[in-house]
Amino acid sequence: MYTSNLDLQTTVRDSFTLRGVGIHSGEAVAVTVQPACEGGIRFHRADQPAVSIPAHLSSLQATPRCTVLAAGEIRVATTEHLLSALWALGVDHARVLVEGDELPALDGSALEYVQALQRVGLRDLDQPREWLDLAQPVWVRQGDASILALPAPAFKVTYVLEYDHPMVGTQVVSADVDPGTFAEQVAPARTFGFLEWAEELRKRGLARGASLENTVVIAPDRILSPLRFADEFARHKILDMIGDLALLGRRLRAHVIAVRGGHALNASLVGRILELCQLDGATRSGSSHESAG
Ligand SMILES: [Zn+2]
Repeated sequence: MYTSNLDLQTTVRDSFTLRGVGIHSGEAVAVTVQPACEGGIRFHRADQPAVSIPAHLSSLQATPRCTVLAAGEIRVATTEHLLSALWALGVDHARVLVEGDELPALDGSALEYVQALQRVGLRDLDQPREWLDLAQPVWVRQGDASILALPAPAFKVTYVLEYDHPMVGTQVVSADVDPGTFAEQVAPARTFGFLEWAEELRKRGLARGASLENTVVIAPDRILSPLRFADEFARHKILDMIGDLALLGRRLRAHVIAVRGGHALNASLVGRILELCQLDGATRSGSSHESAG
């Protein structure tokens, strides 16, 4: 059983380790998730000085096709699939130890993380869970991509994927972000890439570990492996988006609707929400200075 009492903060009951290849570096890497009672989700590099990198927007270094978190020179890449699984299954605190500079690609989805979390189970902590509720709709936009976050009683994500490509076209998927729906409908959706991107990405030092084992490759006239869902690509976008929203550092209750968009736009939504929370907090605590202006 992996569902938690929704009112209490949680951690993992026991540690687990997964090994594999880094999708961008192509190197052999490993990740170990350990219990923690506080501090949120924190990454540590096994091969670097003992610096902890909180899973928070303030640690976000870059989004070159994955979410890189860093504290000074110490960095860890491709964090989004694990963060997505931790958030969706309800893990508030964990120590994540990474051997290498990137998390393993596994099969390109979050399925193995979900299975590992289900295997070890969760443990409730003494602290009540804190929710982040939106006081108003929030909208961010970048070119033809946009994300709208609406106040809602629970966390839900809708993604509209649209590629001018005969093998993809338009896909619209909506998913409630609860452990059961995530495990069945979102976690198995794999990373995808277009065959024509491969050379360019490799020139930039990216996707060196990408293969048919961890990526659904889309050729101009066919898809090179069988799909797990007809709309697997939009589902994977939801998986990535949940992982990026975990950088809020608090559990969001909102309906987040994205049209196109990826890691960079997700990060600007997180920034905008955090900014509004601070303003909101400032208004509440500084009531004597409130004015109509
Ligand atoms: Zn992804």
